[in-house]
Amino acid sequence: MRTYPPHAAAHLLGYLSEVNARQVEQNPYYRSGDVIGVGGLESYYEKDLRGKRGVSYVLVDVHNNQKGSFKDGLYDTLAVEGKDLYTGLDLDMQALGERLMVNKKGSIVALDPRTGEVLCLVSSPTYDPELLVGRVRNTNYGILQRDPIKPLFDRALQAQYPPGSIFKIVQSLIALDEGAITVNTGFPCNKSLVGCHNHPSAGTIEQAIQMSCNPYFYMVFKRMIERDADPSRFKDAALGLSAWHRYMLTFGLGQKPKIDLPNAKGGNMPDVAYYDRKYGKEGWAFSTIYSVSIGQGEVLVAPPANGQSGRDLC
Ligand SMILES: [Zn+2]
Repeated sequence: MRTYPPHAAAHLLGYLSEVNARQVEQNPYYRSGDVIGVGGLESYYEKDLRGKRGVSYVLVDVHNNQKGSFKDGLYDTLAVEGKDLYTGLDLDMQALGERLMVNKKGSIVALDPRTGEVLCLVSSPTYDPELLVGRVRNTNYGILQRDPIKPLFDRALQAQYPPGSIFKIVQSLIALDEGAITVNTGFPCNKSLVGCHNHPSAGTIEQAIQMSCNPYFYMVFKRMIERDADPSRFKDAALGLSAWHRYMLTFGLGQKPKIDLPNAKGGNMPDVAYYDRKYGKEGWAFSTIYSVSIGQGEVLVAPPANGQSGRDLC
């Protein structure tokens, strides 16, 4: 039986549930009435947490009356307690995040950038983990499952969102590294390319980020995709996108976060194969995919968005 004094972190902890007939059939370890970890750390570390079952052989007579232990317990084994888990989670931060997200939909993921350690992983709406303990579990699970606000859905690991303007920072770093722009590159805020708000044109990358200018980053992405490396604008775009995509992978974007939790999603970082499937080979060019420049279109990120520097919780 678990208890959850802080009443927090339901999604990332997971819960215990009685094994079903299929699990008993598929795994000889389990017998009817056993519990098994579902979701979260409970599921990921099930083997460590469940410990080891003890066995005692009992002598019985023909009437099934117990007559003491078989061969004085020579073949008996002791049960071994499950291991403890230590996480790098900051429980105060987790609880604060959950309080801040009450009546809101979304997630908060905080990582220590020095180590990739997960400090909090908040998904809202959430539920009190105590709801899924003991005899009330099945009833409460049904209620949570039918709830239209989907409290069981782990938005921190399974929701995938267009990153929007924060993506411009990654675009800037890649374009600078590629030499497509310098810190002093300016582009006019030309709203005929892509919509923007009213602001003076950015004369430097710093101003472009500060004003979050869409046409600026349209031009930045265009320079990375159109490289004049091939006379065909389609082949040229494929070459440009390949190079761009390799950079994105080095940021860990578009990949499942390396984390010791099940079912984490990695978002979507479109590559040449992706657009070839969508539009046909040589059926797309920069003009087809320019929304990616400002973190929209086909780009999706998951809240941890961090395949490379992520680290296990435990
Ligand atoms: Zn602008």
